[in-house]
Amino acid sequence: MAVFDGRNGRSAMKAVVVHGVSDLRVDTVDEPGRCPPESVVVEVDYGGICGSDLHYVAHGAAGTSVLRHPMILGHELAGRIAATGEPVTVHPGTSCGECRYCRGKLAHLCERMRYLGSAAYDPHTDGGFVRRKIVPVNQIRPLPASVDLRSAAVCEPLGVAIHAVGRAGDLTGKSVLVNGAGPIGALVVAAARHAGAERVYAADIAEAPLRIAKALGAHETIDASTAAELPEVEVAFEASGSPAGLTNVIRWLPRRATLVQVGNLPAGGANVDLSPLISREISYLGSFRFDTEIADAVRLLADGLDVSPLLTHVFDVDEAEKAFAVARDRVGGAGKVLLDFTRERSSP
Ligand SMILES: [Zn+2]
Ligand SMILES: [Zn+2]
Repeated sequence: MAVFDGRNGRSAMKAVVVHGVSDLRVDTVDEPGRCPPESVVVEVDYGGICGSDLHYVAHGAAGTSVLRHPMILGHELAGRIAATGEPVTVHPGTSCGECRYCRGKLAHLCERMRYLGSAAYDPHTDGGFVRRKIVPVNQIRPLPASVDLRSAAVCEPLGVAIHAVGRAGDLTGKSVLVNGAGPIGALVVAAARHAGAERVYAADIAEAPLRIAKALGAHETIDASTAAELPEVEVAFEASGSPAGLTNVIRWLPRRATLVQVGNLPAGGANVDLSPLISREISYLGSFRFDTEIADAVRLLADGLDVSPLLTHVFDVDEAEKAFAVARDRVGGAGKVLLDFTRERSSP
């Protein structure tokens, strides 16, 4: 992370930086320098705040990635190529192209994956919560003019949702439960509908996320804090990451059901009753990020998927701290919270 000191003759721009636990700042950093070959400068218009961004601020870690020095956050981006004005989103992952997973067309599981705004490696990979960001051309995904840039900021989490749906196999005609109706859960609802699920239930312990899930296509919503039982579905997606929520989902799954874990469970262990997995032969699958599905996400938006009910808040970059506080408060009605960089001076 290049802190601005003015000595290299470059201009400055704002960046949303996590310095440690509960220490989020809007810092001034250097504008990007000379663009390396096969890369472009992206002028970021909107950045979506993700659960992992919130985790870095709340705990100084996201899953097993522990923050060791300040890092620019952000991996859900939409903007324009600075030189041409072409609207784009960004695939946040840089895979090595050489490990067995890359060679096996599972690049998202790359052993040396670098991900924007991730502390998986030291030094960390700075994210895209800045006005101008150098991005390798092979991570650029052009957007059709019909997709507005606020909606396009959800291409990354929508890719996560489409990947999770793909892990469950063919959903055509199936009954589906999505447990946890935060941004990922709500997008899994939309992706499951698109994949042909016949009946999609969304469950959450708060009312506001259920309203969003309904707007994104859930046939029925369930208040998991009061419901006596969950519906018997063929496929369930656990998107809450709550051990109690997971235990409850497993408790109501019928025999031979498929359960996809897409919400991040607490690292270091959780108290979950997995015993029914055996006697009911439940297939329990993990789902991590996505590979090519960001292209499917762009296509879904281009085809008219309306994610606007999910986009509940937009904050100027200067209000990042407030934006993060709102994003944390799901019970209060926050869906996807966006940071707006468009008022940052666009070039030096
Ligand atoms: Zn994300
Ligand atoms: Zn690799």
